[in-house]
Amino acid sequence: MINHLITQKNWQTQLTEAITSVDELLELLKLESLRPDIYIPKHFELRVPRGFVAKMTVGDSNDPLLRQVLPNQKEQIAVTGYVADPLSENTQNPIKGLLHKYQSRVLLTITGACAIHCRYCFRQHFDYSANMPTASAKQDIIDYISAYPEINEIILSGGDPLNVTNRRLFAWFDTLETIEQLTTIRIHTRLPLVIPARLDDALLERLAQSRCQIVMVIHGNHANEIDALTAEYLQRARAAGVTLLNQAVLLKGINDSVNAQTALSQRLFAAGVLPYYLHVLDKVAGAAHFDLDESFAIELYWSLLAKLPGYLVPKLVRELPNEPFKVPINVYNRA
Ligand code: SF4
Repeated sequence: MINHLITQKNWQTQLTEAITSVDELLELLKLESLRPDIYIPKHFELRVPRGFVAKMTVGDSNDPLLRQVLPNQKEQIAVTGYVADPLSENTQNPIKGLLHKYQSRVLLTITGACAIHCRYCFRQHFDYSANMPTASAKQDIIDYISAYPEINEIILSGGDPLNVTNRRLFAWFDTLETIEQLTTIRIHTRLPLVIPARLDDALLERLAQSRCQIVMVIHGNHANEIDALTAEYLQRARAAGVTLLNQAVLLKGINDSVNAQTALSQRLFAAGVLPYYLHVLDKVAGAAHFDLDESFAIELYWSLLAKLPGYLVPKLVRELPNEPFKVPINVYNRA
């Protein structure tokens, strides 16, 4: 019932009412005993919408959704090789907010804000304030893309691009659709999983009307993130003509088992979403405790091949700085 009441609220209310107090979260989940393990870095505080909390199990300190959002003392530990900008993104911005590292695609950051703070996020130290396009930058962005005719796809990223109002988002769509060479607009977002109501009628109608193909890549890591209501909203997006894909991050203690990955792929498919990528962790400072050996990821991948049809096995990849694509992990490199 609580879940029902929360998720009936409009998405912006749900966004505003997200939990930012560790004490409140632990009290709701009856996990007050975890308080001594908590450390909250100033640059990346707790944030989790109540509807997402409602998908967690009360009293379970190992809940896979809770572990994605609960700050931990381990984030303070400096580990060699884990750095603030693991993908060197700060050096690849030709214009504020525009990242050009792939040949046919550019990435546009339209907000630094997210509905949820994921503790493994590789952009948790990113200086968004210095990298946000201003309203007057739109013409610069059009000119830049026009100078590279091979660019045919724009990736809206963040932060979470669905965190902005429909008015702001649609204004970006209006601008981008004037660039004739663009055939595809891709949206990378976690909002359909954490506040499914974000896929409201106005948004879906606008996406359905776009002259571009719309691809939405949701970032789900565990099957429990996709309950019946979430699946219903995703199916609505699919019915509006949106191609739905998922990319997950392989996270220690959260989805590092054949059963967890199988359930995720099956639940995604039932909701109209195809698994796309399974990323090994980007080595960001503060997240080393989520990382797993590549050899583990490879064995997991082979197990998934044996268990699932090929179309439900995501590509196992690593993102590396200055590489013009996501690098496939060499799965034949077995111990
Ligand atoms: S929603 Fe995405 S960008 Fe935002 S904190 Fe989570 S992983 Fe990072």
